[in-house]
Amino acid sequence: MANFEIKAKDGLARLGRFSTKHGTVKTPLLLPVIHPGKSVIPPKDLVDVFGFQMVITNSYIINSHERFREKAIAEGVHGLLDFNHPIMTDSGTFQMYFHDLPKEEIDPIAIIEFQKQIKTDIGTILDAFSRPDVSREQVEKDVKLSLERAKMSVGLKGEMMLAGTVQGGIFEDLREQSAQAMGELDFDVYPIGGVVPMMEMYRYADIVRVTLAAKKHLPPNRPVHLFGCGHPMLFAQAALLGCDFFDSASYAKFAEKGRMLLTTGTVHLKDLTELPCECPVCSSTTASILQNLPNEEKTLALMRHNLYVSAAEMRRVRQAIADGKLFELAAQRARSHPALLEALHVMTENMDQLVESDPFGKSSSIFYTGAETAVRPEISRFHNRVLMRYPFRNTDTVVIVPDIGERPFSDTASTIIAEVRTRTPDDTILLFFTPMGIVPWELEHVHPAQQCIFSKDVDTKTLSLAKSRLQEILEMIAFNKIIWFERDSPTNHLGNDLESSYEVITTTSASETINALESGKSRDSDWHIRKLRALLMYQWGWNIGDIADLEGLQVVFSRSTGKIRHVTLNNDIIFTVVPTTGLLTPTFKGGEILLHHKIDDTFIITIEKDAGEFVAQGKSALAKFVINANSNLKAGEEVLVINEEQQLLGTGRALLSGSEMLVFDRGVAVVVRHSVHR
Ligand SMILES: [Zn+2]
Repeated sequence: MANFEIKAKDGLARLGRFSTKHGTVKTPLLLPVIHPGKSVIPPKDLVDVFGFQMVITNSYIINSHERFREKAIAEGVHGLLDFNHPIMTDSGTFQMYFHDLPKEEIDPIAIIEFQKQIKTDIGTILDAFSRPDVSREQVEKDVKLSLERAKMSVGLKGEMMLAGTVQGGIFEDLREQSAQAMGELDFDVYPIGGVVPMMEMYRYADIVRVTLAAKKHLPPNRPVHLFGCGHPMLFAQAALLGCDFFDSASYAKFAEKGRMLLTTGTVHLKDLTELPCECPVCSSTTASILQNLPNEEKTLALMRHNLYVSAAEMRRVRQAIADGKLFELAAQRARSHPALLEALHVMTENMDQLVESDPFGKSSSIFYTGAETAVRPEISRFHNRVLMRYPFRNTDTVVIVPDIGERPFSDTASTIIAEVRTRTPDDTILLFFTPMGIVPWELEHVHPAQQCIFSKDVDTKTLSLAKSRLQEILEMIAFNKIIWFERDSPTNHLGNDLESSYEVITTTSASETINALESGKSRDSDWHIRKLRALLMYQWGWNIGDIADLEGLQVVFSRSTGKIRHVTLNNDIIFTVVPTTGLLTPTFKGGEILLHHKIDDTFIITIEKDAGEFVAQGKSALAKFVINANSNLKAGEEVLVINEEQQLLGTGRALLSGSEMLVFDRGVAVVVRHSVHR
């Protein structure tokens, strides 16, 4: 049964919908942990007052107390908790570890049967918990035992959804093995287990490593649950790694010790003179009133504070995914604790995995937060694509204009641009050199070239990366000389040692730069075709650039911004440009031309015959109807939707990657913009 669908992606994060018998929830989400016997906050208040959507409780605890067990069997776990929304149950794995219980304490089969009997929405297998400090041999045994139990349990789940936990301790290869083997079994949710002690020891970098290792192998159409992750300062980063479910016992555990959860860390109420929080609890009292409350009341107030703060952070995470801004939120949170900053660095070292998943064609602005900004998926991808697909690789002169990335580039170097426009790429290539690296003039309006806001005093790590990116670009192009236009930019001094390898002419004004260009070289006023060719290649690769040579083609520019507005062929519009991304979107006619010019298979989605008519009428192409999609296709690309007879049905933007389209049977695969009939 398919329960999960994706609405938007950001990094490895997914904004999703997960359906249960007790309703559909929005992910990422946080499940407060409910103790079946001593929940001082009524479970339904968690929904009505705090805005949570689902809770998690413990089937082992229910089963081991007669009064809970009997009520749960008679009225279901929903009756026991007086809660009419989705409930997940845990199996007691953590209690076995925490209280060091004997192996016979919980029977792995009986606990599955019990969870079915009490009609939980999502049950959990009894796995073997590995502490972070045990030997590799022990972890190997735990992984093996967990897998054996998983195999015994998965066939028993019946109508209940079942969570199959990934173990592997701190060993990335064991996490990968465990995830791969578990991923082959039909679980509905995949928790990543064994992270609670890592969290307690501030080993956040290890959590990032094991999460990324597991994510490589887990099926993309199932939510991933970071088991026991209840501190709001971790939510943004864990969501960015692709975790969809979180649970929190922390709200209660911390409150019992007088501690308050904040998105920036933990504070102890007794140390406060002010309450650094805007939640309803903190807004209506003072630190000293809270400190002087009787213990039970104080704990309750702190629990409520902790719940408000946790719920709000999860909402922020969801909004950040929708805005394509989760990376920035995670980077801000990482400044709250050195261990979180270290975890962020581990993530940036594994950026390829994020680049794979991050959607192409975002429109969000990118604010510089520190050294991690320049390796962000959007910026890394831009540089890689320019290296692979920039079409002009032979020239006489490379003009380099250091730039802070002031927008638009055209304003700051307009005289030089006006001159370059009159020349062919064989004669002159113009490169802007910003802290994010090289932006070729032809691609100046493409995201993220103009959406990056850097400060003037960027860090040295960013500058050294910018320099190595410049070198990579220069190695890619064959040229005779460089004209370096000296400007007030942090990247200006990075050209100092180019003289040792290249002929470099340094200029200090636009007119000097133009004078330094040789006159009488090959001239061509078709600069708009040059831009179009660069864009076509950037978006769809090498074989499609010749569309720019078609007879009857016209590129229409906005006079005020210098951006392409649309492209016509014999007066039919074939491409329009999204102003916020600078990218081309093909009309239906444009789609036919791309198909005719043998666009790479990567950008072609084939759907089932029966669904063809819907797409032809302009409706979205649903994932369940996709019969062929290329695994190289990234989410966010502009694609063509065809039927099995190779007829074009529509054009649009892929919401999912090619491999996701094939495994999801819920939700939209391609948002169709233009179609046969529309
Ligand atoms: Zn508060």
